[in-house]
Amino acid sequence: MLSSRRLFGTNGIRGVVNKELTPEFAAKIGSAIGTFFKNGKLIVGHDARTSSPMLTKAVIAGLNAAGCNVLFAGMAPTPALQYAVKNHKVDGAVIVTASHNPPEYNGVKVVWNDGIEISREQEIEIENIFFEEKLRYAEWNKIGETEALIGVIDEYVEAIKKHVDADKIAKKRYHVVVDAANSVAALAVPKLLRELGCKVTTVNANIDGTFPTRPPEPRPENLKELALTVKAVNADVGVAFDGDADRSIFVDDAGEIHWGDKTFALIEKYFLIENPGEKIVSPISSSTLVKDIADAYNGEVVWTKVGSVIVSHTMKEVNAKLGGEENGGIFYGPHQAVRDGGMATALILDIMADTDKSLSKLLDELPKYFIAKGKVECPDEFKERVLEKLIEQTRGFNTCTIDGVKIWFGDKSSILMRPSGTEPLYRLYAEAKTKEKAEELVREFSLKLKRIINSVKS
Ligand code: MG
Repeated sequence: MLSSRRLFGTNGIRGVVNKELTPEFAAKIGSAIGTFFKNGKLIVGHDARTSSPMLTKAVIAGLNAAGCNVLFAGMAPTPALQYAVKNHKVDGAVIVTASHNPPEYNGVKVVWNDGIEISREQEIEIENIFFEEKLRYAEWNKIGETEALIGVIDEYVEAIKKHVDADKIAKKRYHVVVDAANSVAALAVPKLLRELGCKVTTVNANIDGTFPTRPPEPRPENLKELALTVKAVNADVGVAFDGDADRSIFVDDAGEIHWGDKTFALIEKYFLIENPGEKIVSPISSSTLVKDIADAYNGEVVWTKVGSVIVSHTMKEVNAKLGGEENGGIFYGPHQAVRDGGMATALILDIMADTDKSLSKLLDELPKYFIAKGKVECPDEFKERVLEKLIEQTRGFNTCTIDGVKIWFGDKSSILMRPSGTEPLYRLYAEAKTKEKAEELVREFSLKLKRIINSVKS
């Protein structure tokens, strides 16, 4: 990943610790970021990974060397650090985290003065400084200073509470189970929930950068313990976070785990009831549910390429207040236009309290879809030509080609075919009103894809 001239992936720089992400690399990228920010003032914080304190010290040394002053916020959720950027009116932030990646990874996210991750154009500027050795080191008497920034988590919790009816939630005395993935969600979410009058039970809430109990990605197969705990203690809601607490996945009172676009559709529904006519931003990989809700409640969906930074930037461009992803990223603009697991949790409780309905009931009221997934092998060098042919051959359909090809059919079924960004294959993702139809779509279009791949190969 770090061998080419490209450092930033879809969400910051990621790499294996002490292989790609060495302290030397961290200091140099710190200086490149510091050169980019031109003697600015930056917040720096990190997640709970074993390597995060070591890499953070190196990043700060690099930033100071380039003349940037640093407010060091310590270990905190990514959205809390992003909120702190706006709240303390600084020039940006550097966050040392690898989000949901396995424990041997770490990463670097760079945030602009609006709290949103920098654009691809800005990343390229940093990459050019890094690779063309355009680092600007400060004179000995202009080296940046570092001071501690205390209280970002308290400020973040206070900010979230302002966007919901805290008294109404408190009256319900909800029992919530929090699965913090042994990481930074544990520092903020139980506190937020207790301040909202909830009873809190935690699982995986001890900070442990080895992630001893479950991988830091909140995929349904990793959340069995949470679902069982919700049932065992008879809780109203369960919520699981990823390694830096920007994504949240919910378990209802019946112990059922729901994918993120379903809870997003629920938030979207009640947001549009209050704010009709608003634009809703979502990647093309999200369920048709998002469109159904927008159609039913007078909203307009703006589909984007897959990627949280793209969602944030699109929200700014089209002036949208709500965005969401199928992986559990909820972007609530009135708070901040970035994924925020704590904010998402408060919004779900707010809807439950306001409607006086259980989470299982609320989700049951949404339109239902069945999902089927597939994959077809395709060498990387053919991916682009295959995509061109696929677009050509699906021209008569109702399609969106912003990221792969998505086809919507008249019977509410759909299929998305996207080249994988990391593996030599195409992924297929179908949705339909019956399981059989979804599976049939995956079969039919896998064959179509295979034929195209073979024709491109020969
Ligand atoms: Mg994350």
